[in-house]
Amino acid sequence: MRTLVTGASRGIGRAIALDLARSGHPVVINYRERHEDADETAELIRSEGGQATLLPFDVSDRSATLAAISEDIKKNGPYYGVVCNAGLRRDSAFPAMADSAWDDVIGTNLDSFYNVLKPCTMPMIRAKSGGRIVSITSTAGSVGVRGQVNYSASKAGIIGATRSLALELAKRKITVNAVAPGFIETEMTQDLDSEAVRQIIPMQRIGKPEEVSGTVVFLFSKKAAYMTGQTLSVNGGVA
Ligand code: NAP
Repeated sequence: MRTLVTGASRGIGRAIALDLARSGHPVVINYRERHEDADETAELIRSEGGQATLLPFDVSDRSATLAAISEDIKKNGPYYGVVCNAGLRRDSAFPAMADSAWDDVIGTNLDSFYNVLKPCTMPMIRAKSGGRIVSITSTAGSVGVRGQVNYSASKAGIIGATRSLALELAKRKITVNAVAPGFIETEMTQDLDSEAVRQIIPMQRIGKPEEVSGTVVFLFSKKAAYMTGQTLSVNGGVA
C-alpha cells in the first residue's frame, strides 16, 4: 500500500519520500507548483528501484485536496501512510502582520491537517491494515519565536490535533505522531543568518533534511508500532 507525502518536491518532504521509498513504501508525491522539482524527487526514487507517482494539489484548498485525494484513492486504493509535511512561513512582527500572512500560514500548515487527513482516514480504517500518520510540526510549536505568532500557532495546533487523532485511531492500529524539527537546511531557512542561528543551537550546526526523514522512517517501522500521540524533536538540542 502507498504512502502520501505532502510537500515532497524539495526540502524535508523530498528526503522523507526518498527514505520511505528506500524502506519499501511506494510513495505518492504531493506538491503545489514546482513540477520539475517533484519530478526530480520521483526520478531519484525510481533510479534506486523505488515506486513514486505525482499528485499535485494545494493543501490549503479544501475542495481541490478532497477531489485529488478521493480520485487517487478510488483509482489506486487507500493509503497505508500519510506524512503531512507541506508548510510555509510568512514571518512578521505581530502588530504589523498582514491578514494574508496569518491566513496563508494557518491555511497551509494547520487547515491542511484537516483537508488532507479527513479524506484519507476512513479508507485507511476500512482497509483494516493499520497505518501510519506523521505530521511535521516545529520547535516553534512549543517554544515562542519572535515574528512567528502565525507559524507557532499553526505548529502548536498540529501537536494538539495529533494527540487527539491518535486517541481516535489507536484501536485501528493506525499510529498518529508528529516530528518537530529545529533549524534544517532547506529553502525555507535560506534567508536566515546561519552564523547567528548556529550560535543558538547547542550542537552548533543546522540540521539536514535526512536527519528529519530518519525519524519519520522510524515512526513508520514495526519497532514504533506502540508509539502514538507523540511529538519527537529533531533539533540539535535547541529546545
Ligand atoms: P521548503 O523547502 O520550503 O519546501 C516546502 C514544500 O512544501 C515544497 O514541496 C512545496 O511545494 C510544499 N508546499 C508549500 N505550500 C504548499 C501547498 N499549499 N500545497 C502543497 N504543497 C505545498 O520547506 P521545508 O523546510 O522542507 O519544510 C517542510 C516542513 O517542515 C514544513 O511544514 C515546515 O514548516 C517544517 N519545518 C521546517 C523547518 C526548517 O528549518 N526547514 C523547521 C521546522 C519545521 P512546491 O515546491 O510546489 O512549492
